[in-house]
Amino acid sequence: MKVFSDLATTAYGISGHPEAPFRVAKTFQRLAKGGFRPEMPDVDATQADVLTVHTPRHWDQVRSGDYADADTPHFPGMEEIALISLSGALSAYESARAGEPAFSLMRPPGHHAAAERVAGFCYVNNIAVACTRALKDGLRVAVLDVDVHHGDGTEAIALGKKGWLFTSLHQSPLYPGSGLASRDNCLNYPLPPFTGEKEYLPALEQAIKDVMDFKPDILGVSAGFDTYKDCPIAQMKLEQGTYLKIGKLIAQTKLKRFAVLEGGYAPDLPILIENSSRASAVSCLESFLPRGGRKEVGGTTGGSGGGSWSRGERDLSWSPGGIREGIPGRRRLGPSDRTFGHAPGAPAPRPGPPFPAGTLSRSGVWTPVCGRPR
Ligand SMILES: [Zn+2]
Repeated sequence: MKVFSDLATTAYGISGHPEAPFRVAKTFQRLAKGGFRPEMPDVDATQADVLTVHTPRHWDQVRSGDYADADTPHFPGMEEIALISLSGALSAYESARAGEPAFSLMRPPGHHAAAERVAGFCYVNNIAVACTRALKDGLRVAVLDVDVHHGDGTEAIALGKKGWLFTSLHQSPLYPGSGLASRDNCLNYPLPPFTGEKEYLPALEQAIKDVMDFKPDILGVSAGFDTYKDCPIAQMKLEQGTYLKIGKLIAQTKLKRFAVLEGGYAPDLPILIENSSRASAVSCLESFLPRGGRKEVGGTTGGSGGGSWSRGERDLSWSPGGIREGIPGRRRLGPSDRTFGHAPGAPAPRPGPPFPAGTLSRSGVWTPVCGRPR
């Protein structure tokens, strides 16, 4: 399994904002330590790619900051960082298309961005651009959005498009307040706050069944990890080990597939991503093992370093990689160019106290349960 990343995407942020540089910086370190060897994108996204799903006005707004969304502040140079993030998604798509599953470890995320709307920490809808490329390549494409928030931007772009199935599991009520029912080619599986693994996994299995019934040529996963029990801006209750199961269930589809990072704001994010990636990688390799040689998926359950990945690991011959100082090769932006707050590798912000029932904007604006959905 390939991992595409670029530490230049850690070069923006505002102190206290949950969508912080540590998400990529710390996860990059953890995956590198675990032998995943993150690499630079091998596809350079351009404005033309953005304009396959967004309007020229939208792209102007991303560049100029001429829009109003308190959750999604404008940063000078954001268009360049958004293109790097999109490059990761397109590289992951191309890798998957060629037969190797891939994950784009980048920020900003994308699934709330609509054709002409910056929203929910998202500027450009990375997965929607990748899926649009898949449609152009003549492929049937399905999206499985497992972020705790409804992928409203992706749904708005995918709605009614032939050859494209959108599925989303998400907490409801919660930002952005949509995704309460399915419509046309967009299937929604809203789940209540405090949903744990026991209720979550059957819903995921149903969504995967619906994906398989669609018979896609390729699957794009909007990989959000804010379903985690310690996520500071949502109230689901998945455990670290749940992400192993999610990764395995998705891998078992045997579909060509790629994933892009969406949300996930708890300090444990790197562990969750490693668990999910590891399960996916094991399941890929399992199919090449001789009969009888297959191993159960083990996994890390926290702690530092490589964790307790024991069963099956040695047989699958992972060689640990060292932590690199940044990524060699292209580096369009660096801390010396622009630093907007957290330095790369800075400690994660501490999660706040648990919230009572209600709807929380992604940046912490509180609305009672009966509040008007956005
Ligand atoms: Zn989210």
